[in-house]
Amino acid sequence: MTVVIDGKKLAQDIRVEIKAGVDKFRSERKRDIGLAVVLVGDNPASQVYVRNKIKACEEVGIKSYSEYLPANCAQNSLASVVKRLATDKNIDGILVQLPLPEHLDAEKILKLIPTEKDVDGFSEENTGKLSRGEDCLVACTPNGIMKILERYGVETCGKKAVVVGRSDIVGKPMAMLLINADATVTVCHSKTADLKGECLRADILVAAVGKTKFITADMVKEGATVIDVGMNRNENGKLCGDVDFENVKDKCSYITPVPGGVGPMTITMLMYNTLQAALRR
Ligand code: NAP
Repeated sequence: MTVVIDGKKLAQDIRVEIKAGVDKFRSERKRDIGLAVVLVGDNPASQVYVRNKIKACEEVGIKSYSEYLPANCAQNSLASVVKRLATDKNIDGILVQLPLPEHLDAEKILKLIPTEKDVDGFSEENTGKLSRGEDCLVACTPNGIMKILERYGVETCGKKAVVVGRSDIVGKPMAMLLINADATVTVCHSKTADLKGECLRADILVAAVGKTKFITADMVKEGATVIDVGMNRNENGKLCGDVDFENVKDKCSYITPVPGGVGPMTITMLMYNTLQAALRR
């Protein structure tokens, strides 16, 4: 029988654990844990993401510091805000909400975030450590997927995992985490010659493409675990994933729905990373 993974419930359970960790930290170290969220401009989607992150902070007892800059702000104004946060002792994690307006150089800004406050796990040092299997801050979405696999008891050791998508924020770190968890990993992308053949070999199939119903039932092996990272809007504006859920689900042993699968885990892992960052300082 197929298990439909309840990402919302799992995220809630993990937030309770994070809150306990945050409370313990506060009573032992006599200070709050701080997360700074930097938002430039008024992109409505970014505003929603930032609001949700601030709400999650309140829920787990992390103090949030919001920095709002106008859409037309200069590179050096944004840089000085990030530099100030980098040295602020009350701040354990810094998150610059992406995408930034086009005139700003996001790469240069992200480089100003010290590795130990890089709660998005995007820095060269954190991604380098991840590829060497060393302890580090890991990108939230793939880290959340590993938590899903772990908590649902999905075995990775010796299993064949296929990741469709090779972005720096999802596909690549996902592949690294699965390698570190002893899976045999194939990464597919738009130039992959036989995508269906690769997917059909997967015990664990992770779809991070950004295309509605991209993974169809004929691409999924019987009994596979299917993780849908996609967050797309269909023709009616409804949120949907990369997997043709209705037709794929009966073939799987485990599957994540959209919404309610991977999505709720992402912000929870940001809280988790902020707690980890504070504990390391
Ligand atoms: P991205 O940077 O656009 O990467 C998409 C990847 O899919 C690329 O590697 C691309 O290959 C590959 N691809 C595109 N068309 C393909 C095809 N026909 N066959 C095989 N591979 C193909 O996207 P992303 O940032 O990784 O995000 C992927 C999806 O996850 C999006 O829907 C995004 O909204 C969602 N997302 C969700 C969360 C969450 O919290 N749930 C977090 C982040 C992202 P090439 O490299 O060859 O172009």
